[in-house]
Amino acid sequence: MQDAEKKYIVQKFGGSSLSDAGHFKTVKSLLKGKDEVIVVSAVKDVTSTLKALLDAAQEKKPFQLQLTHLEKQHITLIHSLIFSADKSNELITTIQADCHIIKDILHAVELIRSSSKETQDLILGYGEQWSAKILTAYLDHAIYLDAATVLFTYEKNGTLCIDWEKSQKALDAFLENKTFTQMVVTGYIASTIQGQRTTLGRNGSDFSAAIFAKLFHAASLIIWTDVDGIFSADPRRVRSAFAVESMSYNEALELAYFGAKVLHPMTIAPALEDHIPITIKNTNNPLAKGTYISETPERSIHPVRGLSCVDNVALINIEGSGMIGVSGIAARVFEVMHQANISVILISQASSEHSICFAVIAHHAQAAKNALSEQLQFEIERKHIEKITVDTSCAILAAVGDGMVGSIGVLGKLCDTLAKANVNIRAIAQGSSERNISIVIKNDEANRALQAVHAGFYLSNKTISIGLIGCGQIGSTLLQQINAELEHLRQKYHVNLCVRGIMNSKKMLLQHEPIHLMEWEQHLEKSPLQSNIADFIQHVYSDDMPHAVIIDCTANKVIAEEYIHYMKRGIHVITPNKHANAGDLSYYKALKALTEISNCHYLYEATVCAGLPVISTLQDIIKTGDEVLTVSGILSGTLSYIFSEMVNGVSFSNAVFAAKKAGYTEPDPREDLSGRDVARKLVCLAREIGHDVSLEDVEIFDLVPQVLKTCSVDEFLKQLPRYDEVMELRIKEAMTKQQKLFYVGTVHANGKLSVAIESLSGSHPFTALKSSDNMLIFTTRRYNKQPLIIQGPGAGAEVTAAGVFADLLRLVSYLS
Ligand code: ADP
Ligand code: ASP
Ligand code: MG
Repeated sequence: MQDAEKKYIVQKFGGSSLSDAGHFKTVKSLLKGKDEVIVVSAVKDVTSTLKALLDAAQEKKPFQLQLTHLEKQHITLIHSLIFSADKSNELITTIQADCHIIKDILHAVELIRSSSKETQDLILGYGEQWSAKILTAYLDHAIYLDAATVLFTYEKNGTLCIDWEKSQKALDAFLENKTFTQMVVTGYIASTIQGQRTTLGRNGSDFSAAIFAKLFHAASLIIWTDVDGIFSADPRRVRSAFAVESMSYNEALELAYFGAKVLHPMTIAPALEDHIPITIKNTNNPLAKGTYISETPERSIHPVRGLSCVDNVALINIEGSGMIGVSGIAARVFEVMHQANISVILISQASSEHSICFAVIAHHAQAAKNALSEQLQFEIERKHIEKITVDTSCAILAAVGDGMVGSIGVLGKLCDTLAKANVNIRAIAQGSSERNISIVIKNDEANRALQAVHAGFYLSNKTISIGLIGCGQIGSTLLQQINAELEHLRQKYHVNLCVRGIMNSKKMLLQHEPIHLMEWEQHLEKSPLQSNIADFIQHVYSDDMPHAVIIDCTANKVIAEEYIHYMKRGIHVITPNKHANAGDLSYYKALKALTEISNCHYLYEATVCAGLPVISTLQDIIKTGDEVLTVSGILSGTLSYIFSEMVNGVSFSNAVFAAKKAGYTEPDPREDLSGRDVARKLVCLAREIGHDVSLEDVEIFDLVPQVLKTCSVDEFLKQLPRYDEVMELRIKEAMTKQQKLFYVGTVHANGKLSVAIESLSGSHPFTALKSSDNMLIFTTRRYNKQPLIIQGPGAGAEVTAAGVFADLLRLVSYLS
């Protein structure tokens, strides 16, 4: 190279920056017109189309139409960009001639039904020649360089290498006595030492650009693409990913190697050797800063600079107790892989040496297995190796960052986040450089894992996708309460509550971005979506969010019977709906058993006494090793009200009418008066304590006269006064004994449950109850002489919704 002074800037434009005439115009506007080496890819998707043509020919499928389309696509581009008739005719003639050659080759491939690597390289390389020629003509003063005339490669041990000396000489010769302001160079293509056309592998134009940057001793390399830089994770997979402003060569290399398609991994080495900084920029958003890759990047506040993921990986596990202490087995295994020309992307071996586990691209799995079975026959026969298993459904997630070096707890956090997102870890590898931790997981969990880990390291981990089913009084009050606290929770506690789905019995509203909680009613009304629970669940449990919860604010039995399926999918469940806990015992047990083994939480504080901290208190009592002996309580606000009215001299029927008028009863007051609601709560409590009981086991004192059981509500209300006398007698009897009547639910020490009217004296805590309040008295081994009492309003939308809200915040605290 005659001019060793660092004056050139190499700029590479990927296919995504060259998709149409508009993009070519943008490219021109981004160039300075001086000392520029412009390396280009083929027009977007052209290389893939050429590959598809070749595959079609090989399979004897028609290809002509697609080839004609490709030709036309380029001719259209020329017509839109090149106004000189001579120039455009020359270009069109070249492309037509090339397409003719391609057609002939494809016919030959069709006949012999196979194509060599050389044929493939030849055909796939046309795209870059066309785009580079068109851009050269469009730029007016640029000169064109076919990289195959100056860039020479060879293969060593299956690795593509650059013959730097030969390439430098060829380039220098090309440049001799030439001056230029802009040179357009074909990316991706090169020549073998023997002079045959070859390529640098798919996505290889980035590598071309770095090679030319080194050959030109460039001051810098700019890679223009369709995103704002290297993101903290693939932006197509992780919505909240962001462009990283600066990173080291090593970080970029690790990310690229582990799947960040934005940069070809081989791009780094030539730039690093000559200390050429690389900037990744967005053609569609040139003002964005982009990512600056250098030796001295700015320090990041996060130990992890980025995440990437290689999909479709096979995990090969070689096991055998005979391997312990036998030297050379690992060497043999990897020698076999080397001989079979299969690249190993991750290795993990436990120190017991009982097994060696490594990963290869899934496409190579069968070949790897065959080679191992054949070549390790000696070890297999001697039982040094007992089992070779291959799992082709894996992916590797890699966390990369120089900041991880020496930083404690990164792996812990990674594993913890994955566990909370219900993602199973199959294998782990951390190089001693500590710059990369790679985790093998299942392919179909890769997106979720990426989301969760990304959220774990960058977002607040207290970000949760919420689906609300049932938006009656409790549901809508809950939304109001969430809305009022949203900002405060976000700012003060980094809690990000994202309500992304709301469903009632008719319609549902689904949104990727959080639903605006001031206007949800109008939006739900206008939503064209009919309620569909499967779609709803699918949406709420989207890979976009690391955690998801369904809040069931219905009183629906069918929905309660689905909780187990939600939880099996990794969705948490919160509910004030009693059906799951008071219904079928085996279902309840299965649900609780699932919470033990999965990472999903099932929270139901509001099933008993609305927002009063009953369930959580009970759980704490049990968890801390205490034993609950009895629980007795006034569990129905409605009945408390009726009874207190009666004590004040109001007749039974009038008390019922007043309760109905005040909105304390169900539309049919018999629901309350029958005691079933209290019995359900009692079942919930007893099961929480550990008794295997069901609703049928509860002895209930039913306040609904037998003859009025089946009549209409109106008829019931009309007839009720006829039964006042019986009740009044009871009241009077109690009053003469200085006692009061209460409708009490009890879990007895022997596990029996009863709901009965009890007449209690003034010293009993229940007698201090006000109006519709609830009260629960726990006697336990610890709270024996002095029982533990919980008292307060146990019904109503505000307090019930508050109980659900408290569960939601409790859930979020478990996730952090
Ligand atoms: P070009 O045609 O410019 O070479 P590519 O399609 O090869 O573009 O690479 C850019 C794409 O890489 C982006 O559109 C993005 O979808 C994908 N990508 C994958 N991982 C990352 C990442 N970590 N940061 C940015 N982009 C990424
Ligand atoms: N055009 C080639 C490909 O699609 C090279 C590149 O775009 O980097 O693989
Ligand atoms: Mg690319």
